[in-house]
Amino acid sequence: TVRVRVAPSPTGLFHVGTARIALQNWIFAKQHGGVLVLRVEDTDASRNQPEWVDAIYSAMSWLGITPDQYEGPYLQSSYAAEHHAATEKLAASGQTYFCDCTRDMVQARTGSQHQGYDGFCRQRGLTAGPGRALRFRTPDSGETRIVDLIRGEPAFDNALMEDFVIARADGSAVFLLANVVDDASMGITHVIRGEDHLSNTPKQQLLWQALGYEPPVWAHLPLIVNEQRRKLSKRRDKVALESYRDEGYLPETMRNYLMLLGWAPSGDREIVPWSVIEEEFRIEDVNPSPAFFDLQKLRAFNGEYLRALPVEQFVAACQPWLVGTETIPAPPWQPADFDPAAFAEVAPLAQSRVAVLAEIVPNVDFLFLAEPVTDEGSWSKAMKAGSAELLDDAIEAYQELSPWRAEELKATTEQVGAARGLKLGKAQAPIRVAVTGRTVGLPLFESMAVLGRERTLARLRAARS
Ligand code: GLU
Repeated sequence: TVRVRVAPSPTGLFHVGTARIALQNWIFAKQHGGVLVLRVEDTDASRNQPEWVDAIYSAMSWLGITPDQYEGPYLQSSYAAEHHAATEKLAASGQTYFCDCTRDMVQARTGSQHQGYDGFCRQRGLTAGPGRALRFRTPDSGETRIVDLIRGEPAFDNALMEDFVIARADGSAVFLLANVVDDASMGITHVIRGEDHLSNTPKQQLLWQALGYEPPVWAHLPLIVNEQRRKLSKRRDKVALESYRDEGYLPETMRNYLMLLGWAPSGDREIVPWSVIEEEFRIEDVNPSPAFFDLQKLRAFNGEYLRALPVEQFVAACQPWLVGTETIPAPPWQPADFDPAAFAEVAPLAQSRVAVLAEIVPNVDFLFLAEPVTDEGSWSKAMKAGSAELLDDAIEAYQELSPWRAEELKATTEQVGAARGLKLGKAQAPIRVAVTGRTVGLPLFESMAVLGRERTLARLRAARS
């Protein structure tokens, strides 16, 4: 049976590229009636942090890859004995040798004929000792051919492959080996991972064979690149799945979007239910060239997903931004001033306007703050010659208005504006800033209706004082 795995290293927040790899493996397992194994590769003690292990679990569950659908989690660090046994086995087979070359020495000897280490210690017959790493002796001729579901059968020239380190001087296995040992002992049949590992693959396939295992089928997913066509990086780009979550991207959006990197469903569609992706996706159809991570498109996707929610679900989805969480900042209003009924009234208006849920806060804060936040820029933009007089007229007209409803507010404002030769759009601009603090936002008259006469008038008067 098919057994695939996702093998993140707990070195930081959960990378969107890892999310995409997890989804790819998950789909592959489902489509083949197989199993997805979660293995946390936590053996690099200098870079790993326990809190990042939790980040992996919570990212997986946020994506909807729930524990009953995968096996594990396993921590790579629990298998040090197996890694060591594999090192011994390789050493006993005569395919390894000890090497005491320092990085600088290797560097100094590197010429055009080698890729990496030149095999200097091959014939020296060193025994184990301090400062001596164990290297795997790669074949001098022939080629190593891998089977890759996305790339066909790329072949690698063995003569160009360096004798690579498999165990450090302290005896601990390096990533290349530990990763193979775990995959082999976990019965992994297909290794689906990022293209950044493609250069490791021929070396790892040699290790599978040297350890006496049938190598897996590989699939190297294309790199994800930014607008400048450079590989997404922690330093340059927003790569943490958590930051998308905290901005208010839905897991459904991320799942859909991440699967479209290098692939598209049938019929010119892009936004499709997960069930369609599960049915139509074929890893063999993934385009091997780099995939552009298009933030604009992702945002537009999310807007569509939000608009498609039943309004009660939209309201529920907004909650974390209305109260704040450990990772989402608290909104600017006092918790006691939040009015769920008022929020429910404006939610349908907001739903069609926000692309990410964090944007709900600036759209509704005027309802829950004693005074709207107004910046100078908005004032100077909205207050033109005659705006003050218009506000006075509006105050007077609104005082008498009954019933206090959007429709009547609109008609009255139209009249007030017309009396001063202003179209509704112009007339409403200073009123909007006075009432909501902003030049753009939810439909004004609905907003004023929900805010109520007293508070609306108080704000208009405050604007005039
Ligand atoms: N821990 C490795 C990584 O995060 C896993 C590579 C693999 O999937 O084999 O890049």
